[in-house]
Amino acid sequence: MLQAPERHSLFIDNEAIAPASGDSLPVIDPSDGRVFAQIARGAGADVDRAVRAARRAFDGAGTEPAAGLWGRADAAQRGRVLHRWADLVASQRETLATVESRDTGKPLAQARADAVALARYFEFYAGAADKLHGQTIPYRHGYTVLTLREPHGVTGHIIPWNYPMQIFGRSVGAALAAGNACVVKPAEDACLSLLRVAQLGAEAGLPPGALNLVTGLGAEAGQALAEHPGIDHISFTGSPDTGRRVAQAAATHHCPVTLELGGKSPQLVFADADIEAALPVLVGAIVQNAGQTCSAGSRVLIEACVHDRVIGLLAERFAALRAGPAHADLDLGPLVSRRQYQRVRDFLSEAQSGGLRFAAQGVVVGDAPPEGFYQAPVLLADVPPVHRLAQEEIFGPVLAASRFDDEAHAVALANGTPYGLVAGLWTRDGARQLRLARQLRAGQVFVNNYGAGGGVELPFGGVGRSGYGREKGFEALYAFTALKTVALRHD
Ligand code: NDP
Repeated sequence: MLQAPERHSLFIDNEAIAPASGDSLPVIDPSDGRVFAQIARGAGADVDRAVRAARRAFDGAGTEPAAGLWGRADAAQRGRVLHRWADLVASQRETLATVESRDTGKPLAQARADAVALARYFEFYAGAADKLHGQTIPYRHGYTVLTLREPHGVTGHIIPWNYPMQIFGRSVGAALAAGNACVVKPAEDACLSLLRVAQLGAEAGLPPGALNLVTGLGAEAGQALAEHPGIDHISFTGSPDTGRRVAQAAATHHCPVTLELGGKSPQLVFADADIEAALPVLVGAIVQNAGQTCSAGSRVLIEACVHDRVIGLLAERFAALRAGPAHADLDLGPLVSRRQYQRVRDFLSEAQSGGLRFAAQGVVVGDAPPEGFYQAPVLLADVPPVHRLAQEEIFGPVLAASRFDDEAHAVALANGTPYGLVAGLWTRDGARQLRLARQLRAGQVFVNNYGAGGGVELPFGGVGRSGYGREKGFEALYAFTALKTVALRHD
């Protein structure tokens, strides 16, 4: 007998709440295309309820001011709650990974790595909570001037479907550590792990309202969150077009925004590089999460004199890659949704009709259900740098390779897209490492390594079409606070 899909609610004030409309949305398993759960279709009224709950948790608005409010908790106490939350996440790693893997199509090992990273984000921000402080500033005689780092109040978090746990961790972890109360809108394609993580937050000691999740559609719940006048800061990760819409909506009430909008990140391989060391990293940086990674290394630029050798070696590795159901834990799972699958297929059709060279392609395993959203990894060689495949984020397992003649040419190609999120540099020449690290237009530069999605401690964010503001590391804590200057005249 077929099991009825499990139903999920909104999470507000530490309780499971039905949406005002009573409506739900189906959740599809990308590995077999079947509906296996229903999520609540939250919208404007639910967002409003969540924002009011968060405001109460932050400053007691609408209630008798009481001890225990998140906004008034000692920083060390906030840190202790985040520590307990980290421990709970770590102890539930397998459950979270299983849920995530089914919901998003990630191979189990990758979903497990996301759960580990989530715990690590909470741990990092737990430790940082009571180390976030202002400064004193030398000013005129007879004055003492100091700065205070104060939480914004209620922060909104619009989370995409590619790394729900990691992006939640970096954004909500930092916001809560700084003393904000949060309203989160997860992507409709990837809510389930976060609903469980929110429950664990309540178990760890988050007071009611400190964290609220409103599931639903981007155009409904997401837009309502961005427009809500009770939101004091929004962090958004997703596409440039939606990011622009979110920033426009937030601007109507002068709400600051952090935007992380993906990239077309290059890895530059010079002839003097340790090519054997570079190869697995070049492949991993585009295959991880089936290429659905904002910082995916989706372009490889190769010095002309080693170009054919490197392409040959990459082609061997691509041909050996296998895509299959998430639970089979192969190199990659299916893409997250039919829509994303179609988007990647459209790019590949364009590559084919434009005569681009398919240097190698992996395989989809034979027992992958035909209704799943599988795309084998593709290596495209000699992609003209102005071609759409070398310019636009595909968000699939497609690596675009081009060649360069010298250092200046390499930098021009690397910087030649509207994006600027991450760059990788492979060379043994120390002077070149430093010179190019400065010249590359990116928020992060990795030298002789590459960190697609990694690095809890490392400030992360882009320039240009990749967005603005920084997440991760200590830097994120600054974004989730407003700086107040206090000037005292005492004689
Ligand atoms: P979106 O930018 O539309 O979605 C990202 C988040 O924004 C989701 O939570 C989505 O909710 C929400 N959202 C959608 N519309 C609105 C809105 N009007 N107001 C507020 N929030 C909204 O990305 P897509 O899912 O459409 O993916 C398209 C492309 O975007 C990908 O192929 C990829 O190139 C890029 N992308 C980049 C990401 C990154 O990490 N930088 C992450 C995801 C996508 P919902 O999903 O429920 O609609």
